Amino acid sequence: MKSLPIILILLLFQNNQYKEAREKMVKTQIVSRGITDPLVLDAMRKVERHLLVPNSQRGNAYADRPLPIGDGQTISQPYIVAYMTELIQPKKGMKVLEIGTGSGYQAAVLAEIVEEVYTVEIVEPLGKRAEKDLKGMGYENIHVKIGDGYQGWPENGPYDAILVTAAAEEVPSPLVDQLKEGGRIIIPIGPRGKTQELIRLEKRKGKIRETNLGAVRFVPFTRDSL
Ligand code: SAH
Repeated sequence: MKSLPIILILLLFQNNQYKEAREKMVKTQIVSRGITDPLVLDAMRKVERHLLVPNSQRGNAYADRPLPIGDGQTISQPYIVAYMTELIQPKKGMKVLEIGTGSGYQAAVLAEIVEEVYTVEIVEPLGKRAEKDLKGMGYENIHVKIGDGYQGWPENGPYDAILVTAAAEEVPSPLVDQLKEGGRIIIPIGPRGKTQELIRLEKRKGKIRETNLGAVRFVPFTRDSL
């Protein structure tokens, strides 16, 4: 019984260390690269990224790079998550679809800001783990589905914004159909294994306007691992 207060003190100390690591991450990796949206910066300060990476990676959770999360997949670099989130101009009240749940980190960052997050993952064990972890962290506005994100999640659409976090060779047309008027899709497009271009699509009066935002590198969008 005597050891209980010591464990508590150690846990508080560790939590404080993670909080400091997040502050530093936001300052040195995110603000320094030009992200200014206060909602995005606050969400990045808040989400406990170390709870969404494998135990063996906890010490690296706030490092400036992607990390392995098992099943050959990665959790995106914190800056990329902040950048993609800022690109959809997230606001309270929005309904957002994410393709490629992975660790659940991008979904958690979105869920801090918007009303509802729908996220689709094709690798079942990853999706199930993210769902459990996110629930454990108290997120009730994140909904995880296992399936091929090419099809989107039509039952809950249309969406204010759609974020694709795996690199596709083309924009899946079901996603365009599930986007609201005035909404945005952010998606890395390019050949497998090569550098891709991050593309922003905007739906205005039914027409799609495309902007190329520059080179990025993501794990591939797959169609066949179901
Ligand atoms: N957003 C994640 C990063 C994910 S990496 C995070 O924050 O951790 C990309 C993810 O996309 C991988 O988990 C991969 O399995 C998934 N993926 C690839 N193709 C997919 C598809 N067709 N549908 C849904 N998910 C897909």
